[in-house]
Amino acid sequence: MTDGLGNPMQALQTKLSEVTQTKGLRDAIAVEQSADPLDTTQRALEREMATVGLDRNATLARQIRAAISRINQGGYGVCLECEESISQKRLAAVPWAALCIHCQQRADRANRSVDEWLDDGFATAA
Ligand SMILES: [Zn+2]
Repeated sequence: MTDGLGNPMQALQTKLSEVTQTKGLRDAIAVEQSADPLDTTQRALEREMATVGLDRNATLARQIRAAISRINQGGYGVCLECEESISQKRLAAVPWAALCIHCQQRADRANRSVDEWLDDGFATAA
């Protein structure tokens, strides 16, 4: 295992269980309508925020699972786009990073979602 990386598998699994613990968010979405209009507005806002949170968690969970499978199958820490090594510093901060910082920045500029990169990566690997 590469030095300085710590244990990415453990970090990934911890994070994965964190983002899949969404019961609180689901409860917030499921709350019933209130008769009080002000309360209803507040609840709608909470529900919206919870929905955004769930979406974000679902995306993150997908990225984390992909990173775990890269650890198992090889290829972890290698950029899916340019196949350069992802920097240790970046992996320490974002253990599920699928792209090196340069490709990530390019992807951000192109407004292309990480999911699409992941799909490409798996398609290539298969
Ligand atoms: Zn790259």
